[in-house]
Amino acid sequence: MTRKPQVTATETLTDDPWDMALRQLAQAADRLALSRGIREVLGRPHREFTVNFPVRMDDGSVRLFTGYRVIHNDTLGPTKGGVRYSPHVRINEVRALAMWMTWKCALNHLPYGGAKGGVTCDPALLSAAELERLTRRYATAISPLIGPYQDIPAPDVGTNAEVMAWFMDTYSMHESYSVPTIVTGKPLVIGGSAGRHEATGRGVMIAAREAARHLGRPFAGSRIVVQGSGNVGGVASRLLHEQGCTNVGLSDIHGGIYNPDGIDPNAALTRLKETGGLAGYPGADTVSNEELLKLPCDVLVPAAIEGQITGANAARVKAWLIVEGANGPTTLEADEILNARGVTIVPDILANAGGVIVSYFEWVQDLQAYFWTEDEINANLERLMVHSFREVVRFASEQEVSLRTGALVFAVKCVADALQKRGIYP
Ligand code: NAD
Repeated sequence: MTRKPQVTATETLTDDPWDMALRQLAQAADRLALSRGIREVLGRPHREFTVNFPVRMDDGSVRLFTGYRVIHNDTLGPTKGGVRYSPHVRINEVRALAMWMTWKCALNHLPYGGAKGGVTCDPALLSAAELERLTRRYATAISPLIGPYQDIPAPDVGTNAEVMAWFMDTYSMHESYSVPTIVTGKPLVIGGSAGRHEATGRGVMIAAREAARHLGRPFAGSRIVVQGSGNVGGVASRLLHEQGCTNVGLSDIHGGIYNPDGIDPNAALTRLKETGGLAGYPGADTVSNEELLKLPCDVLVPAAIEGQITGANAARVKAWLIVEGANGPTTLEADEILNARGVTIVPDILANAGGVIVSYFEWVQDLQAYFWTEDEINANLERLMVHSFREVVRFASEQEVSLRTGALVFAVKCVADALQKRGIYP
């Protein structure tokens, strides 16, 4: 496979995700009339680590990398959140993602708080051996924060089951016994869960299906555009295709493809794996990631990174439904424009919760050393996702707000109530 760097010179991330997360919290806190003290607790990460650590490269040189682990809030339980390897990783991005994890876990009634981690690196430019050494050193550097009952990492952008295996092995070596409960999203042979790899994409499919049903629109036959072909976007496009939807657009970091008559996601993903890109897919036009978001379609699934649908392009989004596979893909300005245009958005903390839900199942299975079948996992995921979706729809309609505001207010209220119930120590 061709190896390409993950950043091009023209790519920048515009909006600061932490600023966006804080503004969202302020809106929810206003609606809930939270006290100043509670707002302050929820608005600051509980703990955060910045670690600078050396890694020996294959050519014998030593390179210093910077990583982060942010624990946003542990009121509801041990904290949970992925680890991201990307050249864009910055402390404010990790803080925002950690806060969103707190809301996501609360919204879906998982007994977890929120956390996130990341290393500023381009995994596409590292060999497997370098990635392994980087992972083992990062896991060691953040080990004072993590633990099976303390903080449990998982995969995110640029990391996968293999990275989780190195993480689990490193932690286990330090403890001198095997600790599968330290991470989720592991390979099956070391205590991973059936269905975890597909879980986020499956949840996105369920959220899209429920939203179409809620809006009284046909689901089978709807035209889908998916940004991102990784764990979330790749699986979502395959499962939406299986449900009878037509994938008209698909992209990865290097750009996208468009065919109004449909793209077979299985063939496109195989091509991506073999050639390192989607360009040249038979019968499809090549489009940029920016053009992809404005393609004619019914359902748009941003499933790459944050800050993609912005004030600059929201007015030209053609979809009537946006299902946020990625975390924070829609800026606040874009959200207002889309709401005013009557576009329904299933927000990230609802739409992409399938991953953390099945991570929770994985953790429970590892704690009990008793494993469920894939059918059991998928049936429980379906049950929890549908329950959360209906709960958000009901709450948002009672409050006369969008699904995003409804989901956020509901989640912030759960955490604020729990905080008040626990009381302030001492
Ligand atoms: P991944 O690394 O498997 O895939 C990311 C995809 O996005 C790739 O196709 C990549 O080429 C593309 N991409 C990366 N940077 C891009 C850019 N600047 N512009 C356009 N495309 C870009 O990651 P993933 O696990 O699929 O995560 C995708 C999103 O979903 C992230 O926002 C992540 O936080 C969120 N998410 C992931 C999970 C999970 O279980 N993996 C769960 C919930 C939410």
